[in-house]
Amino acid sequence: SAQLSEYIKSLPRPEKPLKVAIIGAGLAGLSTAKYLTDAGHEPTIYESRDVLGGKVSAWQDADGDWVETGLHIFFGAYPNVNQMFKELGIEDRLQWKSHSMIFAMPGQQTAEGFQRFSRFEFPQFLPAPINGIAAILMNNEMLTWPEKIRFGIGLLPAILFGQAYVEECDKLSVSEWMRKQGVPERVNEEVFIAMAKALNFIDPDNLSMTVVLTALNRFLQETHGSKMAFLDGPPPTRLCQPMADYVEQRGGSVLLEKRLSKIELNDDNTVKCLKLQGGETVEADVYVSAMPVDPLKLMLPEPWRPLPYFKLLDGLKGVPVINIHLWFDRKLTTVDHLLFSRSPLLSVYADMALTCNGYRDDEKSMLELVFAPAKDWIGRPDEEIIAATMKELEILFPNEISADGSKAKLLKSHVVKTPLSVYEATPGREDFRPVQTSPINNFFLAGCFTKQKYLASMEGATFSGKLCAQAIAEAAVAGRVKARAPEPAAAVVA
Ligand code: FAD
Repeated sequence: SAQLSEYIKSLPRPEKPLKVAIIGAGLAGLSTAKYLTDAGHEPTIYESRDVLGGKVSAWQDADGDWVETGLHIFFGAYPNVNQMFKELGIEDRLQWKSHSMIFAMPGQQTAEGFQRFSRFEFPQFLPAPINGIAAILMNNEMLTWPEKIRFGIGLLPAILFGQAYVEECDKLSVSEWMRKQGVPERVNEEVFIAMAKALNFIDPDNLSMTVVLTALNRFLQETHGSKMAFLDGPPPTRLCQPMADYVEQRGGSVLLEKRLSKIELNDDNTVKCLKLQGGETVEADVYVSAMPVDPLKLMLPEPWRPLPYFKLLDGLKGVPVINIHLWFDRKLTTVDHLLFSRSPLLSVYADMALTCNGYRDDEKSMLELVFAPAKDWIGRPDEEIIAATMKELEILFPNEISADGSKAKLLKSHVVKTPLSVYEATPGREDFRPVQTSPINNFFLAGCFTKQKYLASMEGATFSGKLCAQAIAEAAVAGRVKARAPEPAAAVVA
């Protein structure tokens, strides 16, 4: 990742910088802009909303409390994100937690009546993959020895045949793979339902095994791969704003409340200009869509639709997910980490008043919870979603929470619904992910759904932006895209 950054910076400086119009100020759009400025070009981002970040965006409610689109976790195995934090000089904003994975044991309590957790601890002194194997072997609460051995044997082809095997497994769902490899059903129930929901907000029956193997591969190959960090505050101010400042200090711009409404074409089907809502016209040398796949499909000009490259997009569709914030009148947990709920309606959760300095409160808990799969819930009223969540929390916090409100008091809540979030990674989706260079000479793609070796994630979005900037800068060096000649000076009429 550091090498790619250096390579982008070392490309021959353009005689005249390209003006690049980027649609969307999520991590992919911001990363494209950042690396384009590193290559000496002049990007302008057009973002439809009044906030930076897209799926990592957040805003303040009437009390000044932050509401986030999603509970976001950073991993050691995010080389491009970690490199970008370094390049922005904001590494200290990542709050790294102990090297563990912690699973709730719903319905099980300690002798004192508190929620029980089961931990996979990665020993600090051991390198990968031994630290991961030790973490699995040392945990005896969730899996029995025969189950661990069956699972280990099942994973052998992935260890022996590497990436080729990981990609081949895109044909199978997680559940199908488990059956094929003879892994007991209980392993799925104990571990992989929680993992599938955390990785893509769907169940193992629907999730491609490639997704799980990609994550496991990174975790087993990199000593700190599965180490987790929380950002120390809201992503728009703590991460996206420094990216936007970096771009603007180097001649680019980031404009909010500028919604793309149409892509207009020249006779040769290249982009002539963008039309923004309100009638504004944007002309540039190169155009980038850093929109999610669903709005991109709606924006495709008619003549592009039959091209195989754009037809691929029909195979991708965003998955629904709900992010919930609950403020309680007291502390519910002392676990300063991400927790896998292993409950039917919820995925992961954390007490953000504990895990994140920017939201710190030593007296009260602010739980942020991912509600998934959300297919049957996304259309329901917030009150129903909160009531169902409270029922699940009653099981997770037997001593502290009662759905009738007789124990901890729920002070307030926010429900954030994202009906079309990251692309749904069902089997076979890898073939539909488009590369960043399109068949249209002056049009490129970025976004976590585009082709790159990471999943639909912050790392995937950031890396896709970097690859997109690289592709544009190389096309400029090769003369495939050019800065326009300056407009002739207006004739002075005497
Ligand atoms: P987006 O963030 O969607 O950005 C696209 C931008 O385009 C948006 O700002 C949008 O407003 C803009 N746009 C759309 N249409 C137009 C238009 N017509 N004109 C102008 N602009 C437009 N990833 C992790 O790595 N770890 C996690 O723990 C994690 N948890 C998550 C939890 C939730 C609940 C969600 C929803 C996502 C989570 N993710 C996580 C995934 C991660 O957030 C995304 O993969 C990543 O942020 C996507 O970035 P992007 O730039 O590709 O797309």
